[in-house]
Amino acid sequence: MIRPQIGTLAQKKGSKRCPLSGEFLNFACSNHHPSVPMQAIKTVFIDIDDTLWYFTQNSKVAFRHVYDTMGLAAVCAHYDRFHDIYLKHNARLWHSYHHGEIDRDFLKTERFRVTLEEAGYRGDCLALGNDMDKEYLRYLATLPTLVPGAKQLLEYLNERGYDVNVLSNGFTEVQERKLLSGGVRHLVHHLVLSDDCGITKPQRGIFDYALAVAHAQPETTVMIGDDPDTDIVGAHRAGWKTIYFDLRGIPPTPGTATATVSTLDEVTRLL
Ligand SMILES: [Mg+2]
Repeated sequence: MIRPQIGTLAQKKGSKRCPLSGEFLNFACSNHHPSVPMQAIKTVFIDIDDTLWYFTQNSKVAFRHVYDTMGLAAVCAHYDRFHDIYLKHNARLWHSYHHGEIDRDFLKTERFRVTLEEAGYRGDCLALGNDMDKEYLRYLATLPTLVPGAKQLLEYLNERGYDVNVLSNGFTEVQERKLLSGGVRHLVHHLVLSDDCGITKPQRGIFDYALAVAHAQPETTVMIGDDPDTDIVGAHRAGWKTIYFDLRGIPPTPGTATATVSTLDEVTRLL
């Protein structure tokens, strides 16, 4: 990948300022937004799931573990169908949770309960769903796979002197363990979780809460995350700079992403 040379002394002919660091890049960055106010970033908040810790990959492993160890082939012999049912309901329920329509305890068990129900389980779907939830989360948090470049990015940001924090809608009992399993907990200052303040991204309150925790200002804070709604729209509305990590090829809402990257390595050209 071609990387821009970052210069701090003077603007070369044809170069442009990076919208986040204010430094000059010696060729135009495709994500350059000249209208963005240029103030130096001091504080970084990064999403955990699918931005640092590879939730999508680890969740597949954990769900398979639950299916195998809890004998769920007796409920649904076709694993892929069972997993697809779960993914459908899990995505729907997380969307409701993000927007404050349901609480975390309902989300945690309902996603498994309704999966069992749709798969045709004739026993107590709620009781088995509760057991699945416990084993899924317990095992999930032990898995170490990070998004490629995540550890290197955290090391880079720390070396550059940024205050590096995470901001996540995940559950308190597993989010720190995920970072420990991935070997990156020591590279993160504050863990700010929706469970701590009772407000989920993209709602404004959690972004204001995060600033208070980090003693930071919105103008000098950037959010890095893979969700165009919860991470990027939310942080943009709170007055933060935003770096959208486009993991799935979904365009951000126009005007909300200060910059867009497709790999974490690209963040180092911006900060
Ligand atoms: Mg995420």
